[in-house]
Amino acid sequence: MTGVSSKMSEYRAGITAIDCDYVRPKLAASHLVVESGHAAFVDTGTTRSVPTLLAALEAKGLAPADVDWVLTTHVHLDHAGGAGALMQALPNARCAIHPRGARHLVEPAKLVAGSIAVYGEERYRALYGEIVPIPESRVVIAGDGARIALGGRELELIHTPGHALHHYCVVDAANELIFSGDTFGLSYRDFDVDGRAFIIPTTTPVHFDPDALCRSVDRLMSYRPKSIFLTHYAEVTELDRLAREMKERVLAYVDLGSRCRDAPDRAARLRHGMFAMMAAWLDAHGYPRDDAKRHWLLDDDVELNCQGIEVWLDRK
Ligand SMILES: [Zn+2]
Repeated sequence: MTGVSSKMSEYRAGITAIDCDYVRPKLAASHLVVESGHAAFVDTGTTRSVPTLLAALEAKGLAPADVDWVLTTHVHLDHAGGAGALMQALPNARCAIHPRGARHLVEPAKLVAGSIAVYGEERYRALYGEIVPIPESRVVIAGDGARIALGGRELELIHTPGHALHHYCVVDAANELIFSGDTFGLSYRDFDVDGRAFIIPTTTPVHFDPDALCRSVDRLMSYRPKSIFLTHYAEVTELDRLAREMKERVLAYVDLGSRCRDAPDRAARLRHGMFAMMAAWLDAHGYPRDDAKRHWLLDDDVELNCQGIEVWLDRK
C-alpha cells in the first residue's frame, strides 16, 4: 500500500485511526469518527500531521466542510498541536476544549514555552513546527458531562484529571466505546503478543496526580465500554485486565518515585528504575527480550514519565 491508505486503520462504528507520523509509525493516532455524512476528529497530532488528516478525510469521501468537530482531549502538543492548523482547513468545525485548556489553544505562547522546557528548543521545532492559534469564536468550552451531536450520534465529554488537569474523554455510550486521549495510558500495537495488549500509564509533566488518574480510570470503566480508543494507539479491548494493570502500574510509579525521592542521583535512579520496571512487565507479557527494540520503543516515555514524576515529587 502507498499513500494515505497505509496510514488508516478501520474500526467499528465509523471510526478510522489515522497515523499522525509523530516520532515513529503508530505512536500517535487521530481518530476520525463518521456518522451520517458528518465527521469529527478526536485529537489531531501536530501541525505536521494536518496534511495526512485531510488526505484521510478525502479518502473517506468526505469534504472539509463535512467536519463538525475537532475534539482535543487535552492540550499536550501531540494531541492538540495541530488543532489550529486543522481548524483553518475546516470551514464549519468547532473545537471543543476543556475549560482549563482553552486559553492555551487560543493563545499558545505559554504552551509553546512549556513544551520547549520539556523537549528542548531543537527537538521542539522538529516535532511540532508552528502552532496556529484557534480563534476564540470557534472554541466550545467543554464542561464536565457536556453533550455534543455528530450527525445524530451523541457524544459525552467527561473530565478525567490525572494525566493532565485539563483532560476530557469522549464517551460514545450507544456504541459502548470511549476515546481516552492519555487517561487510559499508552498501548502501542508494537507490543501486542498473540493479540493481547500491553499497557502503561503516561505521566508527562506537569499535572500527574496518581489518585485522580486511578479515579478517572474507574470513571471510564463505570460506563462499561467494550472498547477504548487510545491516542497511543487506537483500539484496546480486554478492558477489565487493562484497567487493573493501569491502576497497579500507577501505584508502581508512585512507589518508585517515593523510593528515589531523597537519592542524590534521583533523576538517574528514576530512569533506570522506570525502564527496569517496564522491562519486567514486558517479560511477564511474553514480549521478546530484545533490549535494543525495547529501548527504541520506550525511551521517550521513560524520560517523559520520569520528568512528570519528578514534578509530582517536588510538588508534594
Ligand atoms: Zn498527554
